[in-house]
Amino acid sequence: MPVRAPIHLSAPDVGPAEEAAVLRALRSGWATPFGPEVDAFEQEIARRVGVPYALALNSGTAALHLGLLSCGVGPGQLVLVPTVTFVATANAVLHAGATPYFVDCDPATGNVDVGLLGEVIADLHRAGRRIGAVMPVDMFGSCVDYDPLLALCREADLAVIEDSAEALGSTYRGRCAGSFGDAGVLSFSHNKMITTSGGGMLLSHDAQLIARARHRANQARIPAAHHEHDEMGFNYRLSNILAAVGRAQLARLDELLARRRRIREHYTKLFAPVNGVEVLADSDPGTNCWLTVITVDPHLSGWQAADLASHLAQADIETRPAWKPMHRQPLFAGAEARLTGAADQLFARGLTLPSGTSLNEQQIARITDEVENFLRQRS
Ligand SMILES: *Cc1c(COP(=O)(O)O)cnc(C)c1O
Repeated sequence: MPVRAPIHLSAPDVGPAEEAAVLRALRSGWATPFGPEVDAFEQEIARRVGVPYALALNSGTAALHLGLLSCGVGPGQLVLVPTVTFVATANAVLHAGATPYFVDCDPATGNVDVGLLGEVIADLHRAGRRIGAVMPVDMFGSCVDYDPLLALCREADLAVIEDSAEALGSTYRGRCAGSFGDAGVLSFSHNKMITTSGGGMLLSHDAQLIARARHRANQARIPAAHHEHDEMGFNYRLSNILAAVGRAQLARLDELLARRRRIREHYTKLFAPVNGVEVLADSDPGTNCWLTVITVDPHLSGWQAADLASHLAQADIETRPAWKPMHRQPLFAGAEARLTGAADQLFARGLTLPSGTSLNEQQIARITDEVENFLRQRS
């Protein structure tokens, strides 16, 4: 039997353009955590997202951390975080010395339930608790409902750090993900919309905020012949070589977005006739289609998301449950949370399907065949 390569959720999609960029950066002599590729990458991302200032960093988590610190978040403060997210969002709150408070999601999108968030803010203020910031996350590439969220945060005078790690290229009412908060964050990890193999970006409309973060990202070093430091800093800068990879990826963003959208449309068609199966955030016109997540109502379908997952696993096709909610993580046992049950249901019913731009037509056909086999067996 021929060896069948496994199919992954979202494998890096790199080729000759990225290879040429690495060579260019290496040959330029700037094998450094600063340099012309970093400067150009910052400018190009800022232009694409529609913000004036950007800071390249070595991870999205570092960008979240510095975003929180630059907004003055620290010990003794609560930070409101969606319970449906990747752990990096909540870890950044811990890194800043603050305490995450988890808020449940809108079942249609997996994004924070903005109405519930409003209740939490009102209740915490009534109880005299200190809230340092709110961190909306653009889950799976679908923007949060920003009009009411920003109105709420403006009213309560709360800083917003937007976690757009999954949402480069997404839009909400004509504006780009990453441009909504006091600070916005992108990730260029291996499985994101574009990759530098590891990296991130902090975005802002506020020059001072980015300047403060830039200072901390470089060990809080003051320009002086000797090494002088005026506060606690970090080594968070992005390699100039990796910034070159990021520029090559960014130049391909429209192509990558079109490809993810085609994969999403394929899944939408494939599951349209299946009773009880929905594509998460299917009505969002601005999504970048980063990962396609289906939800399975077992009472209507007669099977569970996990049944399809194990069928596909036998065919070497990777799937994953939707993010396990933070309030269910051992790390956050005992953390405060405001829950409706929506996140728990999304975790029980959601399944993330292979969505990467490096999937070829044969692999998509293989996934389709296996899903159809499974559905035939179940009907
Ligand atoms: C990937 C991701 C991050 C963190 O990005 P890294 O670059 O891996 O540090 C943060 N938040 C969310 C929601 C993510 O998906």
